Amino acid sequence: MSKTQDYINRAEEVILHTYNRFPVVLEKGKGVYLEDVDQKQYLDFGAGIAVFALGYGNRKYQEALKQQIDDVIHTSNLYYNVPAIEAAEKLIQACGMSKVFFTNSGTEAIEGAIKTARKYAYHKDGHTDHEIIAMNHSFHGRSIGALSVTGNPHYQEAFRPLMGGVKFADFNDLNSVKAQINEKTCAIILETVQGEGGIYPADREFLEGIKKICEEKDILLILDEIQCGMGRTGEMFAWQGYGVSPDIMTCAKALGCGVPVGAFVLNEKTAKASLVPGDHGTTYGGNPFACAAVSKVFDLFEEEKIVEHVRQITPYFEKKLDELVETYEFLSERRGKGLMQGLVVEGRPVGEIITKALENGLIILSAGNNVLRFVPPLIITQEHIDEMIEKLKKSFESK
Ligand SMILES: *Cc1c(COP(=O)(O)O)cnc(C)c1O
Repeated sequence: MSKTQDYINRAEEVILHTYNRFPVVLEKGKGVYLEDVDQKQYLDFGAGIAVFALGYGNRKYQEALKQQIDDVIHTSNLYYNVPAIEAAEKLIQACGMSKVFFTNSGTEAIEGAIKTARKYAYHKDGHTDHEIIAMNHSFHGRSIGALSVTGNPHYQEAFRPLMGGVKFADFNDLNSVKAQINEKTCAIILETVQGEGGIYPADREFLEGIKKICEEKDILLILDEIQCGMGRTGEMFAWQGYGVSPDIMTCAKALGCGVPVGAFVLNEKTAKASLVPGDHGTTYGGNPFACAAVSKVFDLFEEEKIVEHVRQITPYFEKKLDELVETYEFLSERRGKGLMQGLVVEGRPVGEIITKALENGLIILSAGNNVLRFVPPLIITQEHIDEMIEKLKKSFESK
């Protein structure tokens, strides 16, 4: 029996089967490549689901983590710690907002954003029947709060009743959002670029229109940048490319580049009139280890000019993907921004292509039910793109 099969058998004995995993046991990473327990190499265009922006094995990142392990890993939020202060300063600097709350995941950042929005509205009028407008085909996480604003009935069905006061509108359809607004609306939540739902960037007019409504009615705009943020679209945060700023932003995934950490960030107006001591907390959130990672990630983004690199490599990536759309009948469209791209597949199961790609040593992801998703480490070069295209073509052609 291969080592892989042996590990898979052991995993299925003890790990709850909530994922239909691909039959691969990954063990090591270097740059844009991963290696499994049977020494097979994979070119990674998934980055652990848009997480490992800096690539695997970045020496400076690893040294910073090792140093923090030697200093102190955890202290709790009853005290101040230096890495959290530095990480928050750098995050604030990058987005121009006002205050940060660190969480352990994206889902928890969404929970914090929802609580903040409700508290802001409660603070204003003392009512407890406020509503949030979310988008169809959105994804914000799997806890009950985050699931309640996730516009995917399939994920929600068995877990009802969910959190009340949530209405859904169509992404990129301003009128459908307007139709849901009333005097109870306290927030509108959306991904600047929808990820799991199928890689749909927001239209400029849509985002500007929402911002305008939010300003007029003092509704909070929550932008979920968990997947599209941290340089992925060629902006540090995708909304910066639209010139539309949120009242609340959520981050995670590449924020820690592999260390589990998220954040919700508030602008000044929101920070001043929402959460106060006693309203929210977490044991691990913002601990020195996680924040040492965040802090180093921001340093390395600057030193290695990651965002500039994404901007510079994007046209080549898009051109290569567009060529695939022209070549293959079953590819109908490319969508995306920067290094967050999707290819729409018609009449062929996406899962089969992904499985073939794995056999050919290429990791890619799916999104929605018919989209191939590409979210590689942000350090990829033209050579990596060429290699990916070769492997993908091979995977298209082998039946
Ligand atoms: C992944 C993701 C989440 C959930 O983050 P977790 O860290 O998995 O809890 C929320 N929103 C978006 C847009 C995501 O891509």
